[in-house]
Amino acid sequence: MPRTGAQYLEDVEDGRSVYLNGTRLNTVTRHKAFGGAARSIARLYDFQCAPENIERMTFASPDTGDQVSRMWQLPRNHAELVARREALVASAETHFGFMGRSPEHVASTIAGFRMGSGVYEEHGRERAQAVRDYYAFARDRDLYLSYVIIDPQGDRSKTRSEGGNADLTVSVCDEDGDGLTLRGAKMLGTGAVLSDEILVSTLRPMKAGEERWAFTAMLPMNASGLKILSRRSYEESASSEFDYPLSSHYDENDALIYFDEVRVPWERVFVNQDVRTQFAQWHGTPAHSYQNYQAEVRLMVKLRFLVGLARRIAETIGTIAFPQVVETLGRLSSQLQVIEAFVIAMEAKGWRYGEYWLPDRELLYASQVQSQALYPQIVHTIRELAGGGVIMVPSSVEDFADPELATLIGRTQYSPATDSTGRVKLFKLAWDAIGSEFGSRHTQYEMFYSGPTVVTTGMAYRNFDWDRATGLVDRCLAGYDPPKPPGASGSVRNGRGST
Ligand SMILES: Cc1cc2nc3c(=O)[nH]c(=O)nc-3n(C[C@H](O)[C@H](O)[C@H](O)COP(=O)(O)OP(=O)(O)OC[C@H]3O[C@@H](n4cnc5c(N)ncnc54)[C@H](O)[C@@H]3O)c2cc1C
Repeated sequence: MPRTGAQYLEDVEDGRSVYLNGTRLNTVTRHKAFGGAARSIARLYDFQCAPENIERMTFASPDTGDQVSRMWQLPRNHAELVARREALVASAETHFGFMGRSPEHVASTIAGFRMGSGVYEEHGRERAQAVRDYYAFARDRDLYLSYVIIDPQGDRSKTRSEGGNADLTVSVCDEDGDGLTLRGAKMLGTGAVLSDEILVSTLRPMKAGEERWAFTAMLPMNASGLKILSRRSYEESASSEFDYPLSSHYDENDALIYFDEVRVPWERVFVNQDVRTQFAQWHGTPAHSYQNYQAEVRLMVKLRFLVGLARRIAETIGTIAFPQVVETLGRLSSQLQVIEAFVIAMEAKGWRYGEYWLPDRELLYASQVQSQALYPQIVHTIRELAGGGVIMVPSSVEDFADPELATLIGRTQYSPATDSTGRVKLFKLAWDAIGSEFGSRHTQYEMFYSGPTVVTTGMAYRNFDWDRATGLVDRCLAGYDPPKPPGASGSVRNGRGST
Protein backbone atom coordinates (compact mmCIF):
# COMPACT_ATOMS: atom_id res chain seq x y z
CA MET A 1 0.00 0.00 0.00
CA PRO A 2 1.56 3.36 -0.97
CA ARG A 3 1.96 6.08 1.65
CA THR A 4 -1.33 7.66 2.65
CA GLY A 5 -2.11 11.32 3.27
CA ALA A 6 -2.71 10.62 6.96
CA GLN A 7 0.74 9.01 7.27
CA TYR A 8 2.32 12.01 5.57
CA LEU A 9 0.56 14.51 7.88
CA GLU A 10 1.65 12.52 10.91
CA ASP A 11 5.28 12.24 9.75
CA VAL A 12 5.66 15.97 9.11
CA GLU A 13 4.81 16.81 12.72
CA ASP A 14 8.37 16.02 13.78
CA GLY A 15 9.32 19.05 15.87
CA ARG A 16 11.01 20.94 13.02
CA SER A 17 11.99 24.57 13.67
CA VAL A 18 9.74 26.75 11.52
CA TYR A 19 9.76 30.48 12.22
CA LEU A 20 6.89 32.74 11.17
CA ASN A 21 5.89 36.24 12.29
CA GLY A 22 8.33 36.28 15.18
CA THR A 23 7.37 32.88 16.55
CA ARG A 24 8.71 29.33 16.41
CA LEU A 25 5.71 27.17 15.52
CA ASN A 26 4.82 23.98 17.35
CA THR A 27 2.77 22.56 14.48
CA VAL A 28 2.78 23.02 10.73
CA THR A 29 -0.04 20.84 9.43
CA ARG A 30 -2.57 22.36 11.84
CA HIS A 31 -1.30 25.94 11.54
CA LYS A 32 -3.45 28.42 9.63
CA ALA A 33 -0.39 29.47 7.62
CA PHE A 34 0.32 25.99 6.23
CA GLY A 35 -2.60 23.63 6.97
CA GLY A 36 -4.33 24.08 3.60
CA ALA A 37 -1.14 23.38 1.65
CA ALA A 38 -0.33 20.41 3.92
CA ARG A 39 -3.76 18.92 3.19
CA SER A 40 -3.18 19.41 -0.55
CA ILE A 41 0.03 17.38 -0.31
CA ALA A 42 -1.81 14.77 1.77
CA ARG A 43 -4.49 14.62 -0.95
CA LEU A 44 -1.76 13.82 -3.46
CA TYR A 45 -0.72 10.79 -1.42
CA ASP A 46 -4.35 9.71 -1.02
CA PHE A 47 -4.94 10.20 -4.74
CA GLN A 48 -2.22 7.72 -5.62
CA CYS A 49 -3.57 5.21 -3.07
CA ALA A 50 -7.10 5.22 -4.47
CA PRO A 51 -7.76 1.78 -6.04
CA GLU A 52 -8.74 3.37 -9.38
CA ASN A 53 -5.42 5.29 -9.49
CA ILE A 54 -2.90 2.78 -8.17
CA GLU A 55 -1.84 1.42 -11.53
CA ARG A 56 -1.52 4.83 -13.15
CA MET A 57 0.23 6.50 -10.21
CA THR A 58 2.50 3.82 -8.75
CA PHE A 59 4.89 1.02 -9.65
CA ALA A 60 6.33 -1.87 -7.66
CA SER A 61 9.54 -1.06 -5.80
CA PRO A 62 12.19 -3.42 -7.19
CA ASP A 63 13.52 -3.96 -3.63
CA THR A 64 10.35 -4.44 -1.57
CA GLY A 65 7.69 -5.22 -4.18
CA ASP A 66 5.44 -2.60 -2.56
CA GLN A 67 3.70 0.00 -4.70
CA VAL A 68 5.44 3.40 -4.60
CA SER A 69 4.89 6.61 -6.52
CA ARG A 70 5.94 6.67 -10.16
CA MET A 71 7.87 9.84 -9.38
CA TRP A 72 10.71 7.49 -8.37
CA GLN A 73 10.57 5.45 -11.56
CA LEU A 74 13.76 5.11 -13.60
CA PRO A 75 12.32 4.69 -17.12
CA ARG A 76 13.87 2.01 -19.27
CA ASN A 77 12.05 2.85 -22.47
CA HIS A 78 9.82 5.43 -24.12
CA ALA A 79 6.62 3.75 -22.89
CA GLU A 80 7.76 3.90 -19.24
CA LEU A 81 8.75 7.54 -19.61
CA VAL A 82 5.29 8.33 -21.01
CA ALA A 83 3.55 6.29 -18.28
CA ARG A 84 5.49 8.26 -15.67
CA ARG A 85 4.56 11.54 -17.37
CA GLU A 86 0.89 10.57 -17.28
CA ALA A 87 1.22 10.08 -13.52
CA LEU A 88 2.97 13.46 -13.19
CA VAL A 89 0.13 15.11 -15.13
CA ALA A 90 -2.56 13.45 -12.98
CA SER A 91 -0.74 14.56 -9.86
CA ALA A 92 -0.32 18.17 -11.08
CA GLU A 93 -3.99 18.31 -12.01
CA THR A 94 -4.91 17.85 -8.34
CA HIS A 95 -3.41 21.30 -7.65
CA PHE A 96 -3.88 22.75 -11.16
CA GLY A 97 -0.10 23.00 -11.48
CA PHE A 98 0.19 25.57 -8.67
CA MET A 99 2.49 23.52 -6.43
CA GLY A 100 5.78 23.94 -8.22
CA ARG A 101 7.77 21.88 -5.77
CA SER A 102 5.25 19.12 -5.21
CA PRO A 103 6.95 15.83 -4.24
CA GLU A 104 7.68 14.84 -7.85
CA HIS A 105 10.24 17.60 -8.40
CA VAL A 106 13.08 16.68 -6.07
CA ALA A 107 12.22 12.97 -6.38
CA SER A 108 13.21 13.47 -10.03
CA THR A 109 16.52 15.00 -8.93
CA ILE A 110 17.34 12.07 -6.66
CA ALA A 111 16.27 9.62 -9.37
CA GLY A 112 18.66 11.45 -11.74
CA PHE A 113 21.50 11.19 -9.20
CA ARG A 114 20.71 7.49 -8.85
CA MET A 115 20.73 6.83 -12.59
CA GLY A 116 24.07 8.61 -12.83
CA SER A 117 25.54 7.35 -9.56
CA GLY A 118 28.68 6.24 -11.43
CA VAL A 119 29.64 9.94 -11.52
CA TYR A 120 30.30 9.80 -7.76
CA GLU A 121 32.55 6.71 -7.95
CA GLU A 122 35.70 8.66 -8.72
CA HIS A 123 35.03 10.90 -5.72
CA GLY A 124 34.56 7.87 -3.45
CA ARG A 125 32.83 4.49 -3.50
CA GLU A 126 31.07 5.30 -0.19
CA ARG A 127 29.62 8.50 -1.62
CA ALA A 128 28.26 6.65 -4.68
CA GLN A 129 26.78 4.02 -2.36
CA ALA A 130 25.22 6.77 -0.21
CA VAL A 131 23.41 8.06 -3.31
CA ARG A 132 22.09 4.60 -4.22
CA ASP A 133 21.03 3.82 -0.66
CA TYR A 134 19.34 7.17 -0.18
CA TYR A 135 17.38 6.80 -3.43
CA ALA A 136 16.04 3.41 -2.26
CA PHE A 137 15.32 4.78 1.23
CA ALA A 138 13.34 7.78 -0.08
CA ARG A 139 11.57 5.77 -2.79
CA ASP A 140 10.38 3.03 -0.45
CA ARG A 141 9.01 5.60 2.01
CA ASP A 142 7.60 7.83 -0.79
CA LEU A 143 9.22 10.83 0.85
CA TYR A 144 8.39 14.41 -0.02
CA LEU A 145 11.73 16.14 -0.58
CA SER A 146 12.52 19.82 -1.09
CA TYR A 147 15.85 21.39 -2.01
CA VAL A 148 18.05 24.44 -1.52
CA ILE A 149 20.69 24.66 -4.22
CA ILE A 150 21.22 28.41 -4.63
CA ASP A 151 23.39 30.71 -2.49
CA PRO A 152 21.60 33.54 -0.71
CA GLN A 153 21.87 36.67 -2.85
CA GLY A 154 24.24 38.70 -0.70
CA ASP A 155 26.52 40.57 -3.06
CA ARG A 156 26.42 38.87 -6.46
CA SER A 157 29.39 40.93 -7.70
CA LYS A 158 31.68 39.17 -5.22
CA THR A 159 32.84 35.58 -4.80
CA ARG A 160 31.60 33.37 -1.97
CA SER A 161 34.44 34.33 0.32
CA GLU A 162 34.62 38.07 -0.40
CA GLY A 163 33.22 40.87 1.73
CA GLY A 164 29.78 40.34 3.27
CA ASN A 165 29.38 37.03 1.40
CA ALA A 166 31.94 35.29 3.63
CA ASP A 167 30.14 32.96 6.04
CA LEU A 168 26.78 33.75 4.42
CA THR A 169 26.45 30.63 2.28
CA VAL A 170 26.30 27.27 4.00
CA SER A 171 29.63 25.47 4.07
CA VAL A 172 31.36 22.59 5.83
CA CYS A 173 32.71 23.93 9.12
CA ASP A 174 33.81 20.58 10.58
CA GLU A 175 34.40 16.97 9.54
CA ASP A 176 34.96 13.91 11.73
CA GLY A 177 34.45 10.15 11.72
CA ASP A 178 30.66 10.54 11.99
CA GLY A 179 30.13 13.04 9.21
CA LEU A 180 30.05 16.77 8.41
CA THR A 181 28.94 19.86 10.29
CA LEU A 182 27.32 22.63 8.26
CA ARG A 183 26.95 26.32 8.97
CA GLY A 184 25.39 29.12 6.93
CA ALA A 185 22.35 29.83 4.76
CA LYS A 186 20.82 28.75 1.48
CA MET A 187 17.87 29.97 -0.59
CA LEU A 188 15.04 29.31 -1.28
CA GLY A 189 13.40 26.16 0.06
CA THR A 190 10.06 26.02 -1.69
CA GLY A 191 7.94 23.41 0.08
CA ALA A 192 10.60 23.05 2.80
CA VAL A 193 8.15 23.78 5.63
CA LEU A 194 6.04 20.81 4.51
CA SER A 195 8.59 18.35 3.17
CA ASP A 196 10.02 15.33 4.95
CA GLU A 197 13.64 16.03 4.07
CA ILE A 198 15.75 18.55 2.22
CA LEU A 199 18.59 18.26 -0.28
CA VAL A 200 21.28 20.86 0.33
CA SER A 201 23.70 21.40 -2.50
CA THR A 202 24.93 23.98 -5.01
CA LEU A 203 23.93 24.05 -8.65
CA ARG A 204 26.25 26.72 -9.96
CA PRO A 205 29.88 25.84 -10.79
CA MET A 206 32.62 26.50 -8.24
CA LYS A 207 36.31 27.19 -8.53
CA ALA A 208 39.30 25.50 -6.92
CA GLY A 209 39.61 27.01 -3.45
CA GLU A 210 35.84 26.92 -2.88
CA GLU A 211 35.89 23.32 -1.59
CA ARG A 212 34.21 24.01 1.73
CA TRP A 213 31.02 25.04 -0.11
CA ALA A 214 31.21 22.08 -2.50
CA PHE A 215 29.12 19.46 -0.71
CA THR A 216 25.77 17.73 -1.18
CA ALA A 217 23.77 16.17 1.63
CA MET A 218 20.28 15.10 2.70
CA LEU A 219 18.78 16.20 5.99
CA PRO A 220 15.52 15.51 7.76
CA MET A 221 13.62 18.76 8.37
CA ASN A 222 13.86 18.25 12.12
CA ALA A 223 17.67 17.99 12.12
CA SER A 224 19.06 19.77 15.13
CA GLY A 225 20.10 23.33 14.19
CA LEU A 226 18.15 23.42 10.91
CA LYS A 227 16.08 26.61 10.96
CA ILE A 228 13.29 27.19 8.45
CA LEU A 229 12.72 30.94 8.07
CA SER A 230 9.38 31.18 6.30
CA ARG A 231 8.32 34.04 4.09
CA ARG A 232 4.92 35.61 4.73
CA SER A 233 2.15 33.04 4.38
CA TYR A 234 -0.42 33.97 1.74
CA GLU A 235 -2.59 31.17 3.02
CA GLU A 236 -2.74 32.77 6.45
CA SER A 237 -3.93 36.07 5.01
CA ALA A 238 -6.45 34.42 2.68
CA SER A 239 -9.69 35.55 4.36
CA SER A 240 -11.77 32.70 2.92
CA GLU A 241 -11.69 29.91 0.37
CA PHE A 242 -14.27 31.78 -1.74
CA ASP A 243 -12.12 34.94 -1.85
CA TYR A 244 -8.77 33.16 -2.27
CA PRO A 245 -9.47 29.70 -3.67
CA LEU A 246 -5.83 29.05 -4.66
CA SER A 247 -3.95 30.83 -1.83
CA SER A 248 -5.99 28.91 0.71
CA HIS A 249 -4.97 25.49 -0.66
CA TYR A 250 -1.78 25.67 -2.69
CA ASP A 251 0.54 28.15 -0.98
CA GLU A 252 3.46 25.71 -0.85
CA ASN A 253 5.61 28.36 0.86
CA ASP A 254 9.24 29.38 0.35
CA ALA A 255 11.80 29.63 3.13
CA LEU A 256 15.35 30.70 3.70
CA ILE A 257 17.15 27.83 5.40
CA TYR A 258 19.76 28.46 8.07
CA PHE A 259 22.10 25.64 9.08
CA ASP A 260 23.24 26.35 12.60
CA GLU A 261 26.00 23.78 13.11
CA VAL A 262 23.91 20.98 11.62
CA ARG A 263 25.43 17.48 11.74
CA VAL A 264 25.08 15.19 8.71
CA PRO A 265 26.05 11.52 9.02
CA TRP A 266 28.26 10.10 6.26
CA GLU A 267 25.52 7.89 4.83
CA ARG A 268 23.66 11.09 3.86
CA VAL A 269 26.63 12.85 2.27
CA PHE A 270 26.78 12.54 -1.54
CA VAL A 271 29.64 14.97 -2.13
CA ASN A 272 32.24 16.09 0.36
CA GLN A 273 34.21 19.22 -0.54
CA ASP A 274 34.88 18.31 -4.13
CA VAL A 275 34.30 21.01 -6.73
CA ARG A 276 34.38 18.65 -9.70
CA THR A 277 31.85 16.10 -8.45
CA GLN A 278 29.67 18.84 -7.00
CA PHE A 279 29.10 20.20 -10.51
CA ALA A 280 29.28 16.90 -12.40
CA GLN A 281 26.40 15.41 -10.41
CA TRP A 282 24.03 17.98 -11.96
CA HIS A 283 25.05 17.85 -15.59
CA GLY A 284 27.07 14.62 -15.86
CA THR A 285 24.00 12.74 -14.56
CA PRO A 286 20.43 13.18 -15.80
CA ALA A 287 19.46 14.97 -12.53
CA HIS A 288 19.16 18.53 -13.82
CA SER A 289 17.31 17.66 -17.00
CA TYR A 290 15.05 15.06 -15.34
CA GLN A 291 13.93 17.48 -12.60
CA ASN A 292 13.29 20.24 -15.11
CA TYR A 293 11.40 17.90 -17.42
CA GLN A 294 9.03 17.31 -14.47
CA ALA A 295 8.76 21.10 -14.10
CA GLU A 296 7.72 21.46 -17.76
CA VAL A 297 5.10 18.70 -17.36
CA ARG A 298 3.69 20.52 -14.34
CA LEU A 299 3.77 23.87 -16.16
CA MET A 300 1.82 22.36 -19.05
CA VAL A 301 -1.02 21.56 -16.62
CA LYS A 302 -0.93 25.05 -15.12
CA LEU A 303 -0.99 26.73 -18.55
CA ARG A 304 -3.97 24.59 -19.53
CA PHE A 305 -5.74 25.84 -16.40
CA LEU A 306 -4.86 29.48 -17.24
CA VAL A 307 -6.02 29.12 -20.84
CA GLY A 308 -9.30 27.65 -19.58
CA LEU A 309 -9.60 30.58 -17.18
CA ALA A 310 -9.06 33.02 -20.05
CA ARG A 311 -11.90 31.45 -22.02
CA ARG A 312 -14.27 31.48 -19.06
CA ILE A 313 -13.48 35.18 -18.51
CA ALA A 314 -14.31 36.01 -22.12
CA GLU A 315 -17.57 34.04 -21.92
CA THR A 316 -18.51 35.66 -18.62
CA ILE A 317 -18.14 39.23 -19.87
CA GLY A 318 -19.61 38.52 -23.30
CA THR A 319 -16.48 39.19 -25.36
CA ILE A 320 -16.04 35.60 -26.54
CA ALA A 321 -17.26 36.22 -30.09
CA PHE A 322 -15.25 39.42 -30.70
CA PRO A 323 -12.71 38.69 -33.46
CA GLN A 324 -9.84 40.20 -31.48
CA VAL A 325 -10.71 38.03 -28.47
CA VAL A 326 -10.90 34.90 -30.62
CA GLU A 327 -7.48 35.82 -31.98
CA THR A 328 -6.13 36.31 -28.45
CA LEU A 329 -7.55 32.99 -27.25
CA GLY A 330 -6.17 31.21 -30.30
CA ARG A 331 -2.73 32.64 -29.55
CA LEU A 332 -3.01 31.66 -25.87
CA SER A 333 -4.00 28.08 -26.65
CA SER A 334 -1.13 27.77 -29.11
CA GLN A 335 1.31 29.03 -26.45
CA LEU A 336 0.19 26.24 -24.13
CA GLN A 337 0.58 23.76 -26.95
CA VAL A 338 4.14 24.88 -27.61
CA ILE A 339 5.00 23.57 -24.14
CA GLU A 340 2.91 20.42 -24.61
CA ALA A 341 4.64 19.78 -27.93
CA PHE A 342 8.01 20.23 -26.24
CA VAL A 343 7.14 17.63 -23.59
CA ILE A 344 5.98 15.06 -26.14
CA ALA A 345 8.95 15.77 -28.39
CA MET A 346 11.43 15.48 -25.50
CA GLU A 347 10.16 11.98 -24.86
CA ALA A 348 10.03 10.93 -28.53
CA LYS A 349 13.51 12.33 -29.20
CA GLY A 350 14.77 10.90 -25.92
CA TRP A 351 18.21 9.44 -25.44
CA ARG A 352 19.59 6.26 -24.02
CA TYR A 353 21.64 6.66 -20.88
CA GLY A 354 22.89 3.22 -19.96
CA GLU A 355 19.77 1.16 -19.31
CA TYR A 356 17.51 4.24 -19.08
CA TRP A 357 15.46 6.25 -21.59
CA LEU A 358 15.47 9.97 -20.83
CA PRO A 359 13.93 13.17 -22.22
CA ASP A 360 15.99 15.01 -24.82
CA ARG A 361 18.08 17.74 -23.24
CA GLU A 362 18.39 20.09 -26.19
CA LEU A 363 14.59 20.40 -26.34
CA LEU A 364 14.26 20.58 -22.56
CA TYR A 365 16.49 23.64 -22.25
CA ALA A 366 14.80 25.28 -25.23
CA SER A 367 11.46 24.65 -23.53
CA GLN A 368 12.63 26.25 -20.29
CA VAL A 369 13.70 29.43 -22.04
CA GLN A 370 10.33 29.62 -23.80
CA SER A 371 8.39 28.89 -20.57
CA GLN A 372 10.18 31.55 -18.60
CA ALA A 373 9.26 34.17 -21.20
CA LEU A 374 5.76 32.81 -21.88
CA TYR A 375 4.41 32.78 -18.34
CA PRO A 376 4.45 36.54 -17.69
CA GLN A 377 3.09 37.09 -21.23
CA ILE A 378 0.18 34.74 -20.57
CA VAL A 379 -0.57 36.44 -17.25
CA HIS A 380 -0.49 39.81 -19.01
CA THR A 381 -2.89 38.57 -21.69
CA ILE A 382 -5.36 37.31 -19.08
CA ARG A 383 -5.19 40.70 -17.37
CA GLU A 384 -6.03 42.31 -20.71
CA LEU A 385 -8.95 39.97 -21.29
CA ALA A 386 -10.32 40.52 -17.78
CA GLY A 387 -10.14 44.33 -17.62
CA GLY A 388 -11.70 45.68 -14.41
CA GLY A 389 -13.72 42.49 -13.93
CA VAL A 390 -11.15 41.12 -11.49
CA ILE A 391 -11.46 44.28 -9.40
CA MET A 392 -15.20 44.93 -9.73
CA VAL A 393 -15.98 42.29 -7.13
CA PRO A 394 -17.45 42.48 -3.62
CA SER A 395 -14.93 42.97 -0.82
CA SER A 396 -15.41 39.47 0.56
CA VAL A 397 -17.72 36.50 0.85
CA GLU A 398 -19.23 38.20 3.90
CA ASP A 399 -21.02 40.70 1.66
CA PHE A 400 -23.26 37.85 0.51
CA ALA A 401 -24.48 37.39 4.10
CA ASP A 402 -26.01 40.87 4.23
CA PRO A 403 -29.46 40.79 2.53
CA GLU A 404 -29.21 44.34 1.17
CA LEU A 405 -25.68 43.81 -0.17
CA ALA A 406 -26.63 40.40 -1.55
CA THR A 407 -29.43 42.07 -3.53
CA LEU A 408 -27.02 44.71 -4.82
CA ILE A 409 -24.51 42.02 -5.80
CA GLY A 410 -27.30 40.24 -7.68
CA ARG A 411 -28.09 43.47 -9.56
CA THR A 412 -24.55 44.62 -10.32
CA GLN A 413 -22.69 41.39 -11.11
CA TYR A 414 -24.59 40.68 -14.29
CA SER A 415 -23.12 38.21 -16.77
CA PRO A 416 -24.59 36.76 -19.96
CA ALA A 417 -23.02 33.39 -19.08
CA THR A 418 -23.62 32.77 -15.40
CA ASP A 419 -25.41 34.12 -12.34
CA SER A 420 -24.01 36.89 -10.14
CA THR A 421 -22.42 34.48 -7.66
CA GLY A 422 -20.80 32.54 -10.48
CA ARG A 423 -19.38 35.74 -11.91
CA VAL A 424 -17.88 36.83 -8.58
CA LYS A 425 -16.53 33.34 -7.96
CA LEU A 426 -14.78 33.22 -11.33
CA PHE A 427 -13.18 36.65 -10.98
CA LYS A 428 -12.00 35.91 -7.44
CA LEU A 429 -10.34 32.76 -8.81
CA ALA A 430 -8.82 34.69 -11.72
CA TRP A 431 -7.38 37.34 -9.42
CA ASP A 432 -5.89 34.74 -7.11
CA ALA A 433 -4.24 33.06 -10.12
CA ILE A 434 -2.72 36.18 -11.66
CA GLY A 435 -2.96 39.22 -9.39
CA SER A 436 -3.10 38.43 -5.67
CA GLU A 437 0.07 38.17 -3.62
CA PHE A 438 -0.08 34.42 -4.29
CA GLY A 439 -0.63 34.98 -8.03
CA SER A 440 2.15 37.51 -8.21
CA ARG A 441 4.57 35.16 -6.46
CA HIS A 442 3.71 32.60 -9.13
CA THR A 443 4.92 34.94 -11.86
CA GLN A 444 8.18 35.39 -9.92
CA TYR A 445 8.39 31.63 -9.45
CA GLU A 446 7.96 30.76 -13.13
CA MET A 447 10.45 33.46 -14.09
CA PHE A 448 13.12 32.28 -11.67
CA TYR A 449 12.72 28.74 -10.39
CA SER A 450 15.02 27.36 -13.07
CA GLY A 451 17.52 30.21 -12.69
CA PRO A 452 17.73 33.73 -14.11
CA THR A 453 17.49 34.00 -17.90
CA VAL A 454 21.26 34.44 -18.11
CA VAL A 455 21.52 30.86 -16.80
CA THR A 456 18.65 29.23 -18.72
CA THR A 457 19.65 30.77 -22.04
CA GLY A 458 23.24 29.65 -21.33
CA MET A 459 21.98 26.08 -20.87
CA ALA A 460 20.01 26.30 -24.13
CA TYR A 461 23.10 27.67 -25.85
CA ARG A 462 25.33 24.87 -24.57
CA ASN A 463 22.89 22.07 -25.37
CA PHE A 464 21.92 23.21 -28.86
CA ASP A 465 23.34 21.34 -31.84
CA TRP A 466 25.17 24.32 -33.33
CA ASP A 467 27.15 22.18 -35.79
CA ARG A 468 23.97 21.11 -37.49
CA ALA A 469 22.77 24.73 -37.78
CA THR A 470 26.06 26.28 -38.81
CA GLY A 471 26.72 23.31 -41.09
CA LEU A 472 23.72 24.36 -43.16
CA VAL A 473 25.02 27.91 -43.40
CA ASP A 474 28.49 26.70 -44.34
CA ARG A 475 27.05 24.42 -47.00
CA CYS A 476 25.10 27.34 -48.42
CA LEU A 477 28.20 29.57 -48.37
CA ALA A 478 30.24 26.89 -50.07
CA GLY A 479 27.69 26.65 -52.85
CA TYR A 480 28.65 29.89 -54.57
CA ASP A 481 31.86 31.75 -55.28
CA PRO A 482 33.01 35.07 -53.85
CA PRO A 483 33.16 38.01 -56.28
CA LYS A 484 36.10 37.80 -58.66
CA PRO A 485 38.76 40.55 -58.50
CA PRO A 486 38.39 43.14 -61.32
CA GLY A 487 39.68 41.75 -64.60
CA ALA A 488 39.26 38.10 -63.64
CA SER A 489 37.11 36.06 -66.02
CA GLY A 490 34.18 33.81 -65.16
CA SER A 491 30.84 34.48 -63.48
CA VAL A 492 29.55 33.83 -59.96
CA ARG A 493 28.08 30.33 -59.60
CA ASN A 494 24.40 30.17 -58.91
CA GLY A 495 24.34 26.91 -57.02
CA ARG A 496 23.19 27.97 -53.58
CA GLY A 497 22.86 24.99 -51.28
CA SER A 498 23.50 22.45 -54.03
CA THR A 499 25.34 19.34 -52.97
C1 LIG B 1 9.38 31.80 -5.87
C2 LIG B 1 10.74 31.20 -5.92
C3 LIG B 1 10.93 29.90 -5.50
C4 LIG B 1 12.22 29.32 -5.51
N1 LIG B 1 12.38 28.05 -5.05
C5 LIG B 1 13.61 27.53 -4.96
C6 LIG B 1 13.84 26.23 -4.42
O1 LIG B 1 12.90 25.50 -4.08
N2 LIG B 1 15.12 25.82 -4.25
C7 LIG B 1 16.18 26.58 -4.63
O2 LIG B 1 17.32 26.14 -4.47
N3 LIG B 1 16.01 27.79 -5.18
C8 LIG B 1 14.76 28.29 -5.34
N4 LIG B 1 14.58 29.54 -5.86
C9 LIG B 1 15.76 30.30 -6.19
C10 LIG B 1 15.97 30.38 -7.66
O3 LIG B 1 16.62 29.25 -8.12
C11 LIG B 1 16.77 31.66 -7.89
O4 LIG B 1 15.89 32.73 -7.65
C12 LIG B 1 17.29 31.73 -9.28
O5 LIG B 1 18.31 30.79 -9.49
C13 LIG B 1 17.87 33.11 -9.53
O6 LIG B 1 18.82 33.41 -8.56
P1 LIG B 1 18.69 34.73 -7.71
O7 LIG B 1 17.28 34.85 -7.26
O8 LIG B 1 19.72 34.71 -6.70
O9 LIG B 1 18.90 35.88 -8.74
P2 LIG B 1 20.30 36.42 -9.21
O10 LIG B 1 21.15 35.34 -9.75
O11 LIG B 1 20.88 37.26 -8.13
O12 LIG B 1 19.82 37.33 -10.39
C14 LIG B 1 19.05 38.52 -10.17
C15 LIG B 1 19.07 39.34 -11.42
O13 LIG B 1 20.41 39.72 -11.74
C16 LIG B 1 20.76 39.27 -13.03
N5 LIG B 1 22.10 38.70 -13.01
C17 LIG B 1 22.66 37.99 -12.01
N6 LIG B 1 23.89 37.59 -12.37
C18 LIG B 1 24.08 38.04 -13.61
C19 LIG B 1 25.16 37.96 -14.53
N7 LIG B 1 26.29 37.32 -14.22
N8 LIG B 1 25.02 38.54 -15.73
C20 LIG B 1 23.88 39.21 -16.04
N9 LIG B 1 22.83 39.33 -15.22
C21 LIG B 1 22.94 38.75 -14.02
C22 LIG B 1 19.78 38.15 -13.35
O14 LIG B 1 19.53 38.04 -14.73
C23 LIG B 1 18.53 38.57 -12.62
O15 LIG B 1 17.77 39.41 -13.44
C24 LIG B 1 13.31 30.10 -5.93
C25 LIG B 1 13.11 31.40 -6.38
C26 LIG B 1 11.85 31.94 -6.40
C27 LIG B 1 11.67 33.35 -6.90
